[in-house]
Amino acid sequence: MKAAIYPGSFDPVTFGHLDIIKRSAEIFDEIIVSVLDNKTKSPLFSVEERVTMLKEAVKDIPNVKVDSFRGLLIDYAKEKNIHVAVRGLRAITDFEYELQIAQTNHVLSKGRLDTMFLTTTLEYAYLSSSSVKEIASFNGDISGCVPKFIADLIYDKYRILNQESNEL
Ligand code: ADP
Repeated sequence: MKAAIYPGSFDPVTFGHLDIIKRSAEIFDEIIVSVLDNKTKSPLFSVEERVTMLKEAVKDIPNVKVDSFRGLLIDYAKEKNIHVAVRGLRAITDFEYELQIAQTNHVLSKGRLDTMFLTTTLEYAYLSSSSVKEIASFNGDISGCVPKFIADLIYDKYRILNQESNEL
């Protein structure tokens, strides 16, 4: 069975990520979408919230599982006995960063972990989790960026955060 890991922050998952998930699920027998618990970033959603949102978003794709991990991707991949990571490429600006990570993982894993890139579907090329959050924080329209239930969760989160900062 050919399996791959799609690692990322997914803070929150967007239509761009979902497009990569659907397409990679057609190439591999199993895709594990795994939320990286990265202590150096300050995310909008907790790892548990991101995992729950992802599970709901991919529930109709039978060969996709959702998980989370801490630490190095190569260690997580080894534990799962998986040899391929999937990443998405939007623009040339993603390329340099992604190339460096892919090469580092290849060297660190002694050739056991390869990275496969899928280029974004053009209609999602501009989409990023951070721009979605920025738009939502000003009550802008994110209906073309994320599924409806996720848009609602993002607006709720900003409502709570705004209330908290008004109370200070
Ligand atoms: P990270 O913090 O690890 O970059 P992200 O959640 O931002 O995590 O992205 C995970 C992966 O999905 C990355 O490979 C990123 O390039 C890709 N990705 C993000 N948005 C899109 C999009 N709109 N289209 C295609 N790939 C995307």
